[in-house]
Amino acid sequence: MPVQDAQARKNNFHEVALGYTPEMAGEEAARCLNCKNPQCVKGCPVEVDIPGFIQALKEGDLKRSARVLKEKNNLPAVCGRVCPQESQCEARCILGIKGEPVAIGRLERFVADWERASGAPQPERPVPKNKKVAVIGSGPAGLTAAGDLAKMGYQVTVFEALHTPGGVLMYGIPEFRLPKEVVRQEIDYIRKLGVDIQVNQVVGKTFTVDELLQKEGYDAVFIGTGAGLPNFMNIPGENLTGIYSANEFLTRTNLMKAYLFPKYSTPIKVGRRVAVIGAGNVAMDAARTALRLGAEESSIIYRRSAEEMPARHEEIEHAKEEGVRFMLLTSPVAYTGDENGHVKGMTCQRFSLGEPDESGRRRPVPIPGSEFELEIDTVVVAIGQTPNPLVPRTTEGLVIGKHGNIVADEESGATSRPNIFAGGDIVTGAATVILAMGAGKRAARSIDEYLKRKLRREVKG
Ligand SMILES: Cc1cc2nc3c(=O)[nH]c(=O)nc-3n(C[C@H](O)[C@H](O)[C@H](O)COP(=O)(O)OP(=O)(O)OC[C@H]3O[C@@H](n4cnc5c(N)ncnc54)[C@H](O)[C@@H]3O)c2cc1C
Ligand code: SF4
Repeated sequence: MPVQDAQARKNNFHEVALGYTPEMAGEEAARCLNCKNPQCVKGCPVEVDIPGFIQALKEGDLKRSARVLKEKNNLPAVCGRVCPQESQCEARCILGIKGEPVAIGRLERFVADWERASGAPQPERPVPKNKKVAVIGSGPAGLTAAGDLAKMGYQVTVFEALHTPGGVLMYGIPEFRLPKEVVRQEIDYIRKLGVDIQVNQVVGKTFTVDELLQKEGYDAVFIGTGAGLPNFMNIPGENLTGIYSANEFLTRTNLMKAYLFPKYSTPIKVGRRVAVIGAGNVAMDAARTALRLGAEESSIIYRRSAEEMPARHEEIEHAKEEGVRFMLLTSPVAYTGDENGHVKGMTCQRFSLGEPDESGRRRPVPIPGSEFELEIDTVVVAIGQTPNPLVPRTTEGLVIGKHGNIVADEESGATSRPNIFAGGDIVTGAATVILAMGAGKRAARSIDEYLKRKLRREVKG
């Protein structure tokens, strides 16, 4: 797929990947074998009829192709851009056994973009059911549950704490990977299905889940509040200014448009040398964002080796092309500040790799006496997030796991309370967009089952 030139794109926030031309999409679609027993579908958590949408594309019927996609996926332009297809549908494509799998994600993006550009048709509204469902959180889990429930005829209200819906799609993933206009238009489609989205509603503060059920007359609640609580290393000097959590750094940039300061009122200060701690997708996003904000040097500091880096391969390659520096087998142990309390340096230690730990990856082992100093102006800590604690803390009778996650049945999203369901990162911890969407979809199905027949699975703590 064509991409923006690396030297040009590291100075702008425009999308990096430019998408297929119609000719490229046609050629790629023609490779699909339209398998009778398509394994690719089994790798898709939202069960998209992959051969179906590709066949329609092959026949040049883009309208039908988009309709087939949207039967199961309410956010195809988002998924076509950020889903880890290489470990989902494409990992199972039969053509991948001996060669390259069909580029399902790129085709999905092409069809979804074509539909947006040519004016998506108004979705059909089903016969309304006289039952109300509240969805808490408007990330991919909440939006999917809400869209699917609305398609079944339920009256759905989404309550979102921030001033803009979309969750991580809006505040975390940068514009250059996922343009916010694309997210906005897919959320508009969910609104057109009849979903009411209310922003600036912090559930657990503005009102509680129990108030929604008991006072506001909701028949069921879906909790999709994500994993937005940043982890820190708790090392000396970590509270100096200039040290951000990745969440704050990316939210200021993406949601508050700090790169357009003073046109937008949120500033962000990025010095000459930026260090990003961690090597997942979040870390790559932060390191590439730092370059676009004007940093001369942006480095990934990671205590394991290249082999263990959790980010998508494509994101690592894009970061390297843009000039992000990788300091592997290295981790900070302390920060130092200047007279104003602003970070100015960090002490790092070198690591070697030992035996595999419980995650299956080789354990990083510090090398004694290997400490060295680095001058630094800004640090972004991107070492993972844990579930948002507010709703679990303020909802009585919910069984909570040891990482602060809500315990819910994987298949149904049922929690320990009969009319409360949950899914996405709040249940699994930080995961992926498509897994959150799959959980939202399964929960919508079991909310429908519950509301029709008061059926539910038993969940134990
Ligand atoms: C920077 C970054 C990059 C990523 N890149 C990728 C990627 O490339 N591919 C991929 O598949 N995944 C990626 N992920 C992970 C993915 O975005 C998440 O797994 C996914 O968004 C989880 O969806 P969710 O709906 O469970 O939660 P979220 O997207 O976190 O949405 C939760 C929503 O609930 C709201 N909320 C929280 N508490 C309350 C409350 N008390 N009341 C009301 N609302 C509340 C939040 O404001 C938020 O809008 C990335 C994550 C980050 C942070
Ligand atoms: S497995 Fe591959 S070739 Fe077969 S239908 Fe799916 S995408 Fe097409």
